[in-house]
Amino acid sequence: METRMKELVTLLNHYAEEYYTKDAPSVSDYEYDKLYRELVALEEAHPELVQPNSPTHRVGGTILKGFEKYQHTYPLYSLQDAFSYEELVAFDQRVRKEFPAVTYVCELKIDGLSISLSYVEGVLETGATRGDGSIGENITENLKRVRDIPLVLPEPLTLTVRGECYMPRASFDAVNLSRQENGEAEFANPRNAAAGTLRQLDTKIVAERKLATFLYQEASPTDQTSQEKVLAKLERLGFVVNPHHKTVTSIEQVWAYIQEVAAMRDQLPYDIDGVVIKVNDLAIQEELGFTVKAPKWAVAYKFPAEEKEAKLLSVDWTVGRTGVVTPTANLTPVQLAGTTVSRATLHNVDYIAEKDIRKDDTVIVYKAGDIIPAVLRVVMDKRVSEERLEIPSHCPSCQSELLHFEDEVALRCINPRCPAQIKEGLAHFASRDAMNITGLGPAVVEKLFSKELVQDVAGIYRLTVDDLLQLDGFKEKSAQKLIDAIQASKGNSAEKLLFGLGIRHVGSKASQLLLQEFHSIPALAEAEVERIAAIDSLGMVVAESLKRYFAQEGSQLLLEELKDAGVNLDYLGQKVAADAPLSGKTVVLTGKLERLTRSEAKAKLEALGAKVTGSVSKNTDLLVAGSDAGSKLSKAQELSIEIQDEAWLESL
Ligand code: AMP
Ligand code: ZN
Repeated sequence: METRMKELVTLLNHYAEEYYTKDAPSVSDYEYDKLYRELVALEEAHPELVQPNSPTHRVGGTILKGFEKYQHTYPLYSLQDAFSYEELVAFDQRVRKEFPAVTYVCELKIDGLSISLSYVEGVLETGATRGDGSIGENITENLKRVRDIPLVLPEPLTLTVRGECYMPRASFDAVNLSRQENGEAEFANPRNAAAGTLRQLDTKIVAERKLATFLYQEASPTDQTSQEKVLAKLERLGFVVNPHHKTVTSIEQVWAYIQEVAAMRDQLPYDIDGVVIKVNDLAIQEELGFTVKAPKWAVAYKFPAEEKEAKLLSVDWTVGRTGVVTPTANLTPVQLAGTTVSRATLHNVDYIAEKDIRKDDTVIVYKAGDIIPAVLRVVMDKRVSEERLEIPSHCPSCQSELLHFEDEVALRCINPRCPAQIKEGLAHFASRDAMNITGLGPAVVEKLFSKELVQDVAGIYRLTVDDLLQLDGFKEKSAQKLIDAIQASKGNSAEKLLFGLGIRHVGSKASQLLLQEFHSIPALAEAEVERIAAIDSLGMVVAESLKRYFAQEGSQLLLEELKDAGVNLDYLGQKVAADAPLSGKTVVLTGKLERLTRSEAKAKLEALGAKVTGSVSKNTDLLVAGSDAGSKLSKAQELSIEIQDEAWLESL
C-alpha cells in the first residue's frame, strides 16, 4: 500500500512539474486526474501513510483561523537603496577601499514579498513572511499552495532559504479581471495582489491564484563560498532561481548590466523594481557586516518612474459623481512598467491649458509605482498641428451646459438629474469604503440604471431577486447573493452611509469624525454649522456643504426612505476613550507596510486614539515606518521624533 502511494506521489509530482514548470505535459488531464483520485482514496483510507510531498497538500481548502507569529532564527535584512550611478560608485568605493579585487553578483530585484522557507531533514516545515525582520507570520499552509516551492528536497538537508514570492503578470490580469466582474476592488499592482493572497485565510484561493517564487539566499550557515555558488546550489535542490543574474568585476559593468535589464524589463513576465548588487565572496560579505538595518555588502538600485513617448489620438470626457468632467487621453499603446498603456489622465481643463496640449501632439506619459498613468508634457519638437483640443461646452451625458468656476481647475455639470452623475453616485454608494455591497460594481449599476430598476440609492433597497433576474449575467444564486449583500449593508455603522451619500467635501475620514461627534445622521442634520466647523480639522467648507445638503428637501426625503427601508442611521463604532494608548498623539505613516494596507494601518492608529497626518513636522509625536521609507524617515530622525515599525503597531 505504502509503496503504491509513494509511487503515485512521485508520478504525480513529475507530471505536475512538466505541466507547471516546463509547460510540457506528457500525460492527459484525464490520466492525471485518475491517478490523483486513486491517491486521494488511498490517503483517506490511510491518513497515517500520507507522504509529506504528496500533491494533495497543494490543493483544496482549509480555512485558517489566523496566522501565528514566527520568530526567525536568522533575521531578514533590508537593503540600502541607490537611485543613480553616483550612488553606486559611492557604494563601490566603500567596499573597494577594503577589498580592491571585489566581484559582484547582479540580480533582479523582484517586486514581491520576501519569504523564508525552513526545511528539516529535507521536508518543508515552515514558510514565513518577513514581518519586521525578526518576527514574521507563519504562512506555511499558504506557501504549500505555491506550486513551485518544493515540499521535499532531493537530499535530507536541514536549512533555511530566502527568496521572493510574486504574482506573475498573467495571473495578476486574470485575478483582476474576475474581481472586476464580481464588482470587487481590483488590486493596484502584482505586489499588492501577492501580499493580499499570502494573507488569505482560505488556502483554496491561494492555490487558485498561481503565485510563483525566486529563491536567492541560504540564510542558515552555508557550505558554499560565494553568492554565485549559493544560487547554483539552490537550483540543484529544486528551487526556482531567477535565470537573469550576472557576476561582474567593476561598477561600470554593474551599470551596463542595469541598462541591459532596463531594456528587457517590459518583456519579463513579472514585475521588477530594480537590480540588487551583492558582493560575491561570502567571506568578504562577513567581513563587511551590517549597519543597523542593512548589509554593507549589498545595494539595491531602484529604477526611476518610467516615461515613454506616445501619440495623442483623442480625448474622452467623462462625468464623475460630483459632476466634475475629466479628460482622459487615448494614446498609441506603449509599454510602461510592465503594462500596456493606451489611456492616461489629463487631469483637468486647466492642466491642458497650462501644458499647452494640442491635437495630435506627441506627449510623455509616465507611471510611478501604484499611480495611474498620466500625461506629463508635450514633446514640442514633434508638434504637427497648432489646432487646440476641443473643450466640451456641454455635458457628454446630459447635454446641459458645463460651468468652469473661477476658483476651480475643473469643468462641472451641475444638473442633479445628470445620468452619469447618478450612476457614478450609485457605484460610489456601493463601494468598499462606503456601504461595501459586494457584487454591485459599475457594470451592474449600469445595467440596473438602464433598465430603470434603480434611480437613486434608496432604490437599491427595493430591489428583488426577480428584478435582478431581468439582467443578463444573473442566475437565481448570484441574484440572491447580491440581495443578501444589499440587506447586510443596512446594518453598517452610519459613517459608511454618510460617506456613501457623496456629499461634497465629506470624505470617509470626515464622515468618521462627524459621527463620532454627533452619533447619528439625523443629529448631524440638525447640528449647527459652527459646531461642525469646530471639529478637529474639518472647518467651514465641510460644515457649509453639509448644511446645504441637509437643507434640500430631496435629501430629507431620501433619508426618510432609507430609514423606512431599515437602513441604520446611527454610529455603531466605539467612542475613542481618552485613555487609548495613542490618545492625543499625532502620527505619520511612511514606507511600504508588509501586512497592513495603508488604510488598515490608519484605521488601526485612529482606533488607538491617534490623529494621522500626512507630513512630518515638529508637531509630529510618532512616525510609523515600513520598508523603503524615504524623506519622512530622515526628517523624523532629524527632529528626533519617536520611530516605530509595523510590528510595534500590531502589538498594541
Ligand atoms: P527593500 O524592501 O527596498 O529594503 O529591499 C529589500 C527587499 O528586496 C528584500 O526584503 C527582498 O524582499 C527584496 N528582493 C527582491 N529581489 C531580491 C534579490 N534578488 N536579492 C535580495 N533581495 C531581493
Ligand atoms: Zn450632466
